[in-house]
Amino acid sequence: MASHIVGYPRMGPKRELKFALESFWDKKSSAEDLEKVAADLRTSIWKQMAGAGIKYIPSNTFSYYDQVLDTTAMLGAVPPRYGWNGGEIGFDVYFSMARGNASVPAMEMTKWFDTNYHFIVPELGPDVHFSYASHKAVTEYKEAKALGIDTVPVLVGPVSYLLLSKPAKGVEKTFSLLSLIGKILPVYKEVISELKAAGASWIQFDEPTLVMDLDSHKLQAFSDAYTELESTLSGLNVLIETYFADIPAQAFKTLTSLKGVTAYGFDLVRGTKSLDLIKSEFPKGKYLFAGVVDGRNIWANDLASSLSTLHELEGIVGKDKLVVSTSCSLLHTAVDLVNETKLDKEIKSWLAFAAQKIVEVNALAKALAGQKDEAFFSANAAAQASRKSSPRVTNEAVQKAATALRGSDHRRVTNVSARLDAQQKKLNLPILPTTTIGSFPQTIELRRVRREYKAHKISEDDYVKAIKEEIRKVVQLQEELDIDVLVHGEPERNDMVEYFGEQLSGFAFTVNGWVQSYGSRCVKPPIIYGDVSRPKPMTVFWSSAAQSMTARPMKGMLTGPVTILNWSFVRNDQPRFETCYQIALAIKDEVEDLEKAGINVIQIDEAALREGLPLRKSEQAFYLDWAVHSFRITNCGVQDTTQIHTHMCYSNFNDIIHSIIDMDADVITIENSRSDEKLLSVFREGVKYGAGIGPGVYDIHSPRIPSAEEIADRINKMLAVLEKNILWVNPDCGLKTRKYAEVKPALSNMVAAAKLLRIEL
Ligand code: GLN
Ligand code: ZN
Repeated sequence: MASHIVGYPRMGPKRELKFALESFWDKKSSAEDLEKVAADLRTSIWKQMAGAGIKYIPSNTFSYYDQVLDTTAMLGAVPPRYGWNGGEIGFDVYFSMARGNASVPAMEMTKWFDTNYHFIVPELGPDVHFSYASHKAVTEYKEAKALGIDTVPVLVGPVSYLLLSKPAKGVEKTFSLLSLIGKILPVYKEVISELKAAGASWIQFDEPTLVMDLDSHKLQAFSDAYTELESTLSGLNVLIETYFADIPAQAFKTLTSLKGVTAYGFDLVRGTKSLDLIKSEFPKGKYLFAGVVDGRNIWANDLASSLSTLHELEGIVGKDKLVVSTSCSLLHTAVDLVNETKLDKEIKSWLAFAAQKIVEVNALAKALAGQKDEAFFSANAAAQASRKSSPRVTNEAVQKAATALRGSDHRRVTNVSARLDAQQKKLNLPILPTTTIGSFPQTIELRRVRREYKAHKISEDDYVKAIKEEIRKVVQLQEELDIDVLVHGEPERNDMVEYFGEQLSGFAFTVNGWVQSYGSRCVKPPIIYGDVSRPKPMTVFWSSAAQSMTARPMKGMLTGPVTILNWSFVRNDQPRFETCYQIALAIKDEVEDLEKAGINVIQIDEAALREGLPLRKSEQAFYLDWAVHSFRITNCGVQDTTQIHTHMCYSNFNDIIHSIIDMDADVITIENSRSDEKLLSVFREGVKYGAGIGPGVYDIHSPRIPSAEEIADRINKMLAVLEKNILWVNPDCGLKTRKYAEVKPALSNMVAAAKLLRIEL
């Protein structure tokens, strides 16, 4: 009985790759130093898998930046502006594409399906000349082989590669990316032949786009591509790996009719429909790689339940054709639980990070082969039982309250235009009111204060004094700049989710539970393990302190339930919406306490609402329904005169605009500086929008300082599609990552632009 891992995290258990990359980029270490760290990481991962008994061990899932960018390099599809002159692509060109260089900006980056991992989007036009320009897949295969480990080389499949690309500048509207398939397959053939020559007996193509709702012409491209590769692939066992959702029936048919393919990988954690398809029509004689161990979460597998699924599958595909696998690459989970020395013992027993998941996969495979490790299985069963019955997981009052929310609606009684009138009477704001999104620059000094307080090195009194001092500075600056609705600057927060998680019950935190977000950037999501409640107010102290420093309205600043949910590792023992409703109730209490404390404007950030949108269209309406409902629950109880803002970190919501309107916030601020047109086109198309709206007027991700004229220009463009009495003027997002030297002139220009236009209106 065999075991397989789809892919493995690259960063290392203590983010070794991150530090090596950053030191190389800062010119503090050499290319050889970086290569050494990378090779050591690969070696230890391969040895770890081999040692655990995994049969099909992946290679080429390591990357210095991103596996899609690696594929771009393999195909020599370097956009001309990076000045590549042929030959093997080296760090220079590779990192220029990833991060830009002094003269050329980076290639675009976007989210990898519905994960928090970002890939570098290939830019392809009719003139790209493809050539075999990075031998990384073969080099890594050989590298493992030299260690005595025969691996399964992994490539991003040719069809997914094209479907994830974007047309190059100038041909956006006219170019069919799939038309390039005939040009990239020759390079794939070279790679395959070289892998074969090096001794590979298996090859894995990741084709995750197969789980999307693809039309028949795209599915046809799959059949055509793999038919074209058939003769080159002959002699190899070919695995096509899909993940992140159930596979649609049509795609399943296409996939399972491919001739040269011997094995299929499915995500059996997300959804149950793939399992049904397998049960009803799996082709004879082919391997099934059954992804029963969750690659996207941190919970220990329920081994008994997986084993019973596997037994059932064994009856369908045959004993020698069933391979135990992970649901997707382990890239999306934390690396190794061993390093969590501070985590509560009981909670720790419920978890499995990548290193532990390997052991789980192998234990399942051995159990199927009749060598069940009884001790391991019973320890697992005990942990599952303790998780089910632990009093720290269950809070009956919370469960009751959350269940009671279902089925009923929660809305503010008065409609938005009447509410805006009532709010205006109280707030008395000028037309085109100015505001910011929440955070102000976080200086080294500020971070030090927070760190020392956390480590009990400074007293609570000193901490409060220091933070208040910071708030006072931020308030004063905003008054000087003449901003209309102020913020306190969020100096007490390290992270917009962690800050709330630390004060809510039901959350746990790791020390090293990092997950790659992009390049060397990692995030450390909190773990929601139990029913969520709010023991006491979380932000009222700071917000009231800030309000007491100014006569202008001070925004209370909260993170919304959907964003807290989407940026955490979420419990898998109840539906996501249940957890979301619980968080919504906690935030609702906070909103109402802020209101009682005299805060008249409250912003509830839903930066990540869109991120949770399911990949399959058939599941989207349900998600949007409970997500938007959760948001409304947080603020349905406030008075008409209390102004509720929300903020979103993307503007690509043409398809979900009606859900956004249904959130029924009084004001929404949106990140949009890189895509004015996209956002405004929604409103140009005649969508009725009556609430306040503040599309960001400048890009906070760049150190560049926009001029007042430029900002005024953009506001004018917005005025062409939006009513002047609903438009707000604000930056794109929070200012936390910027420096004061950038923020002061930028905000001053922003206010100047608003004032200029007020005279004209
Ligand atoms: N209020 C948060 C801030 O200003 C919002 C951050 C975000 O949208 N990502 O930092
Ligand atoms: Zn934002």
